[in-house]
Amino acid sequence: METKKVGFIGLGNMGFPMANNLLRAGYTVYGVDVNKENEKRFAEIGGIVGFTTATLANEVTIIFTSLPTPKVVEDVYLGIEGLVENGKSNLTIIDLSTISPELNKKVAKAALEKGIQYLGSPVSGSVSGAEAATLSVMVGGDKKTYSFALPYLKTIGKNIFHVGEDHGLGTIVKLINNLMAGIHTQAVAEALSIADAAGLDHDTVYRIVNVSTGQSGIFTRNYKNFIAQDEYYEGAFTTALLLKDLKLANYVSNSFEGKLPLGEGLVNYLESNIEDYADKDISSAYLMLTEEKVKLGE
Ligand code: NAD
Repeated sequence: METKKVGFIGLGNMGFPMANNLLRAGYTVYGVDVNKENEKRFAEIGGIVGFTTATLANEVTIIFTSLPTPKVVEDVYLGIEGLVENGKSNLTIIDLSTISPELNKKVAKAALEKGIQYLGSPVSGSVSGAEAATLSVMVGGDKKTYSFALPYLKTIGKNIFHVGEDHGLGTIVKLINNLMAGIHTQAVAEALSIADAAGLDHDTVYRIVNVSTGQSGIFTRNYKNFIAQDEYYEGAFTTALLLKDLKLANYVSNSFEGKLPLGEGLVNYLESNIEDYADKDISSAYLMLTEEKVKLGE
């Protein structure tokens, strides 16, 4: 049965607008974030705050998480103060973060041993998609839990996919997506650097390529919303998060003994040059390339 009380842990760039959409859909949403400024902003729009991960696990029967790194996800789920340790068997937890498929499976195993249901459900569509509730959601986990979660997921996303029963499968699709988004991001930066050198206007290049074979959603996103505005913060998917996802994609490929020549090269390149760009939007790959001479590694 659908409950009106929902927990949401991680009220950051993505989590805040997703939790807001749950509020707008009429749910009572309990928000937790280590950044108390985010909790304060959440209370201002009608969310309930003042809980910890451990106390939240006893207050509601469904909890979403949107957390920055695999390490944080592991702590929030499997730590002493975590959801699995403190949750009861009527709890369902849905992780919207991008982590490794192995961690999805590790968390699922620990949760299921306590009778807690778990879905690995990474999302795609940027902050604008989170605000507009148009995210793609890629779910790994059992069909029954997926069916239970669907009405909630429909309040945050538009295209919801049950990828398979394996808890890590949604994440593999998400990492494929972000490998492509990362390579396209670098392609946009390199394309515009040639345009600069040739004295070509960016708009001219964008208008032509956008109706030609170099067209991509990332070109439109990165150029229209960020590079053309010379604004690299608002609505950010940070370069640090992209680098995390590219490393995870390489890790998954290696686990299948695959090869990612560009994916691996991009990780090395970003690691050498990320310093001033880690907290900026991914479109700042253009700045990284053009602001100063980049390090190309060994
Ligand atoms: P973010 O850093 O803006 O938000 C993460 C939030 O988690 C922060 O508010 C932080 O204070 C909070 N947090 C950290 N540790 C915590 C803890 N122990 N307990 C409670 N809260 C804690 O990151 P984001 O951009 O919102 O991304 C969240 C996840 O979604 C990441 O896994 C990211 O890869 C993924 N994602 C991001 C985007 C995007 O465009 N930003 C798009 C799709 C997926």
